[in-house]
Amino acid sequence: MARKRKFKQSRLYAIVAAAVLVFCAVIQIGQYIPSLGIPSWDELFASAGFSEPSAAPEGELQVHFIDVGNADCILIRQGEASALIDAGERGDGDLILAHLNSLGVSKLDIVIATHPHADHIGAMAEVVNTLPIGKFVMSFMPESETPTTATYLNMLEALDDKQVPVDEASPGAVYELGTARLTVLAPLEESKEENNISVVTRLTFGERSFLFMGDAETEVEKKLLTDGAVLTADVLKVGHHGSSTSSSYAFLQRVSPQYAVIPCGVDNSYDHPSDKVLARLDDLNATIYRADVHGHIVFTTDGKKLDVSTEK
Ligand SMILES: [Zn+2]
Repeated sequence: MARKRKFKQSRLYAIVAAAVLVFCAVIQIGQYIPSLGIPSWDELFASAGFSEPSAAPEGELQVHFIDVGNADCILIRQGEASALIDAGERGDGDLILAHLNSLGVSKLDIVIATHPHADHIGAMAEVVNTLPIGKFVMSFMPESETPTTATYLNMLEALDDKQVPVDEASPGAVYELGTARLTVLAPLEESKEENNISVVTRLTFGERSFLFMGDAETEVEKKLLTDGAVLTADVLKVGHHGSSTSSSYAFLQRVSPQYAVIPCGVDNSYDHPSDKVLARLDDLNATIYRADVHGHIVFTTDGKKLDVSTEK
C-alpha cells in the first residue's frame, strides 16, 4: 500500500515538474515571438498583481513631442494635470512657453530633467522661472561630477529661487498624473557618462503605454533588460535621438513599440538618427515619427484607442 502511494506521489511530482517545464518553455518562446500573443514574464507578474493596477482612465491622455530640433521636450496632459520631460536647447524657451501657453498649460505638476546636457535642459531655467511646478525630478550626481555649465547652474538656481520641491529620480517611484501613471525605471546606477544617468520613465493610461528613454545608451538598456522592469510600450521615445549608441535590437524587441518617436533636427551635425536604428525599428514593424520630418507630434488616447497627429 505504502509502496503504491509512493509510486503515485513520485508520478505526481514528475507530472508537476513536466508541466512547469512546458509552461516555462512556452513563456520563453513567447518572449521571442510576440505575435504568438503569449504573455511575457513582466505581463504575468503585472497581471498577478505584483505591480499595482493604475486607476481607471478618465478622459484623454495627450503626449506632445514638441519640435525643438535635435533636442527633447515632451508635454504630457491628462485631465487637469500636466508634466514636462526636458526643455529643449538653449534659446528654445520662448518656443516652449508659447507652445504650452497655446495649449492652456499654466502650471506643471511634474517636471523631469532627464540629464544635464544642454539639449535637454537648455531652457529649463526659463520654464522653472515662468510656471508653477509641483515637483521636479532629476538624477543626483556626486559633487565631484556635478556639471559646472551655466545651463545647469542656472537651472539649479531657478529651482532654488522658486523653492521647487526636487526629488532624486529613484527607480520604482510612481507619479500619478490625473488617472495616468508615470513610473521611474532608471537610472539604476551611477555613471560618469551623463547620458547614462538619464531618467527613464514609463507612462501608462488604461491599456496604453509610453516609454521615454532620454539619452540612455545600450549599457542602460542591458541593465533594464535584466532588471525585470516592464518595458513594453505602444510608443517609444527612442533613446539619444536615434543614435547607434542606443536602441540595441534586444532592447527594441522587448519594448516592441507600435510607434517610435525620434527627436532629431533637420540636417543635424550628429547624423541622427542612425540608419542601423531605423532598420531595427523597421524590422520590428514600428511606425517611425521624426521631428525633422513631422515637426510637432501628438499622441492622443482614451486608454484604448491611440491616435497620432503631426504638424507636417
Ligand atoms: Zn540629447
